[in-house]
Amino acid sequence: MPKIGHIVTRPGRREQDPPVEIPVAEELETVPGIPKHESDLEFYSREYPLETINIDERASRDWANRIRDGHLEMREIRREHDRLNKPIVMAGRMTGEMEPTSEPVGEDITELIKAKARSLGFGEVGITRYDHHYTYVSKKDWVKFPHAICLAYEQDYEPTQSIPSVPAEIVHSSTYRTEGAAGLELGNYIRSLGYRAQVHSPNDNTGPYIPMFVEAGLGQLGANGQLLSPHFGSRARLMVITTDAAVSYDKPVDYGIHQFCNICQVCANRCPGRAIIRDKIWWRGAEKNKLIFKRCRPVMARYLGCGICMKVCPIQKYGMKPVMEHYISTGEVLGKGTNGLEGYELHDQGYFGPGELPTFDGQFFNMPHGKAEDWVFEQFKEKLVAAGGVETAAGDDAIEEFKDKLSMALALDQDAFGMGDDENPDYI
Ligand code: SF4
Ligand code: SF4
Repeated sequence: MPKIGHIVTRPGRREQDPPVEIPVAEELETVPGIPKHESDLEFYSREYPLETINIDERASRDWANRIRDGHLEMREIRREHDRLNKPIVMAGRMTGEMEPTSEPVGEDITELIKAKARSLGFGEVGITRYDHHYTYVSKKDWVKFPHAICLAYEQDYEPTQSIPSVPAEIVHSSTYRTEGAAGLELGNYIRSLGYRAQVHSPNDNTGPYIPMFVEAGLGQLGANGQLLSPHFGSRARLMVITTDAAVSYDKPVDYGIHQFCNICQVCANRCPGRAIIRDKIWWRGAEKNKLIFKRCRPVMARYLGCGICMKVCPIQKYGMKPVMEHYISTGEVLGKGTNGLEGYELHDQGYFGPGELPTFDGQFFNMPHGKAEDWVFEQFKEKLVAAGGVETAAGDDAIEEFKDKLSMALALDQDAFGMGDDENPDYI
């Protein structure tokens, strides 16, 4: 049987719950947080800064949205979400300019912020330095304050277990709105204590947030590319508030997840797109399982945002404490190989239990790539070659079509008020 290496004590799931103790097996111990090469992280963020895939992969985003809009019920749900969410996002964008509403209390307000966050329904809250290594190019001048309050809002359990499904998509979007509104309220509270607070709405990310959540000790990065937090794994929506308040930083924690995922591998086994690689690699200065975007997006587009990698994760389904206790008493992964954990249904393909996966032909994975305008240019080049050059009637047609499509691509609203893809850090 594995021996206990150390025990992590964390606040309970709800505000009123007692703390929980999570045993971490000695053989799962690695480092607190995530293994990193700081110099590589520094180099990549300086020379190859990140951009949101809502911009960098806009061509496939528009393509995916057209496919998603073919599902009429989901189209209405998405439109309703966008309509309700837009004021929340816009309100967040203004918060960086808002002045405090009282004089500073003059002492460390970490515990006040955490208590207020918990009372507003956030299941996890931690504080760390805002890490500009991850800020998107398009947001680099937006972030004003040095400290990041990392906030996770739990998504309802039952609908999430039916992923991929309409009920799961409904709860996905409504959790974002509830969280966004709670974040605005927390910002008001911090201002009432005499400090500034900039609310980064959860559908308007300034960068991938998971590295800061890991740094704040709220979980570790799972093989599925998501934050595995103690109580609900990745069944949560994340947001950040930056502030100039007097606060203390939390520390990263070794929950044993970095190594546990190497043993578990359920998400890699169950991913319909085979988009999750089994072995960790070094990517932009961190060691992780890099997701393959071009194998994931086509599945997400056709199967209600997919999310099977969230649904089948034992930490999501059972919580970290039962999973780690089970591992220590049996050496096994709780639920692995069972229909309850691993099974899922795809609307046009039927049910897939453990060991069963759908198959897709190569055509299934064909999709536009890059920025919208880059993709228009790619298509134009192909058409021109097929037309035999510009000095032909077909070449003239290709030029006219190119002009129309390019102006449409450049006119596209780059703002996203809906459910973006930035929540998944391993896309970038
Ligand atoms: S969302 Fe679906 S296709 Fe994408 S990585 Fe997760 S399980 Fe695979
Ligand atoms: S399913 Fe297993 S391997 Fe995948 S993220 Fe969850 S714990 Fe890690």
